[in-house]
Amino acid sequence: MENRFDPGRLVRKGLQELVPYQEITYPGVIKLNANENPYDFPEEIRLAINEMLGPQSFTRYPDAMAQQLVQELAHCHGVSAEQIMVGNGSDELILDLMLTFGAGNRVVIAVPTFSMYGIHARVAGAEIVEIPRQFDFELDVPEIVRASGDAALVVLCSPNNPSGNSATVEQVQSILDNCPCPVVVDQAYVEFGGPDFLPLLDRYPNLVILRTFSKAYGLAGLRVGYLFAQSQVLQYLFKVKQPFNLNTFSQVAALTVLRHRDVFAPQVAEITRQRDILYNTMQQMPGFDVLPSDANYLMFKTGYSAADVFDGLLSRGVLVRNFGDPLLSQYLRVSVGQTEENVIFLRSLQQVIAMLGEKD
Ligand SMILES: *Cc1c(COP(=O)(O)O)cnc(C)c1O
Repeated sequence: MENRFDPGRLVRKGLQELVPYQEITYPGVIKLNANENPYDFPEEIRLAINEMLGPQSFTRYPDAMAQQLVQELAHCHGVSAEQIMVGNGSDELILDLMLTFGAGNRVVIAVPTFSMYGIHARVAGAEIVEIPRQFDFELDVPEIVRASGDAALVVLCSPNNPSGNSATVEQVQSILDNCPCPVVVDQAYVEFGGPDFLPLLDRYPNLVILRTFSKAYGLAGLRVGYLFAQSQVLQYLFKVKQPFNLNTFSQVAALTVLRHRDVFAPQVAEITRQRDILYNTMQQMPGFDVLPSDANYLMFKTGYSAADVFDGLLSRGVLVRNFGDPLLSQYLRVSVGQTEENVIFLRSLQQVIAMLGEKD
């Protein structure tokens, strides 16, 4: 008998069109594509993590509530432990939000923005309503409010990835005041600039804030994110949360980083300083436009296709972020690296622009 097995026929509606997020790795390049902390992980914190790991039992499941981490996060942010949930990276928390509120409902996303909102919305079976940002990537507040009327979730990012600009307190308050659903503000880059919306948490039961250890705090490889919300919202997210989502190793590392967070302050200050130097230099150079940024990356526009500029930089050993997004067909994003890396990036970019100019 002919085998008629065809899983594609059985796959849930909407999943067939989804392209898997599979990042290609390029060994040996200058890696300026993922907004990680470019500096070496502080040795004293590495030693402290090793010491803390000693007495841990790897034969037992991790603390499902990550109680110590949650308590110390609460203490250092001045909120109550009941207003926090931790995740295997904020990526997991985005999926939890989509599974809790998005599935079968509408989700409003202010685009262009971080691609995981759309991916997880599709995975959860949500209907996506994209509200384009304005020409300068400012939020279109009235359109977001209008669309939220029959939506179950609104997702904002501030500072926005990839454009680098922040929302204002007035904009976020106006959205919170007028949207009858949870409003997520992803603040993955707030350590580098822009307003911190946490002080609004007690006043707005619909506010959800995402934070991460992946960017300023150098733990991208260990996957630790966290979320602030009032218990009215959190009680539903806990129904969806994987019980043992944050492994013992990552809980220990995040707790140690939190206790030593002052060690990262000079790194963050240096990254923001380098960002401003890179921005000022790029602004004075011909051939492209660079956008001001509150984060640890800069988005820039050339007169050429993003793919051609990306390839030219890669052939010179510099990896930046190309989006494959029609809204951003001439834009690329570069993470702020170490000083020498930024210099090589700038020199390579000038060469690539000159080369593409000669071809015209
Ligand atoms: C990098 C990034 C994240 C991912 O954070 P993880 O905690 O590493 O999952 C979340 N949101 C935005 C906007 C990001 O750029």
